[in-house]
Amino acid sequence: MATTPTDVTAVLNRLMTAASPYEEIAVTDAMITAGLMWRCPCGGTNAYNDIVCDLCAADRLWIADQTPPRYKCWKLLDDLREGLKDWFDDRARVRRPAAVGFRVTNEYGDDPAWATSGATVYFPDSPTGTEYPHDFAHSWVADALVEISEFDRPQPGDSLRIVVPAV
Ligand SMILES: [Zn+2]
Repeated sequence: MATTPTDVTAVLNRLMTAASPYEEIAVTDAMITAGLMWRCPCGGTNAYNDIVCDLCAADRLWIADQTPPRYKCWKLLDDLREGLKDWFDDRARVRRPAAVGFRVTNEYGDDPAWATSGATVYFPDSPTGTEYPHDFAHSWVADALVEISEFDRPQPGDSLRIVVPAV
């Protein structure tokens, strides 16, 4: 049986109901790290599937992909998204980003390609990204980047930023 947003919300609500006021802070922090809640730049905390902040009514950041306008390889982009989801799903004590952006490189030969290293991670509490220290080499993310690069070579100035699903 597939997990629905209603199931997830029910489980998270029960967890918050069970937490003591002291535990609530720790549970909230863990849920933000896991991407099951998000913190707005204003400091407000929100449910993972809210698209505006409960506290300040600002739009949630990083909820849309950014791809070269000519890109039509939706299936390949979804493969990349699934790869990112898999990468971050069970990573211990790593904060799950809202989106990941990739850079263009010529390191892999004559043709430009999307790089597996030097990616940028974006979090809902900041309008700017930070460099991701790890390389996605030898993962589903890397496989998807190779396929996208071969399907349509990135050009200078292209952007590729993919939303990582929360669940
Ligand atoms: Zn806010």
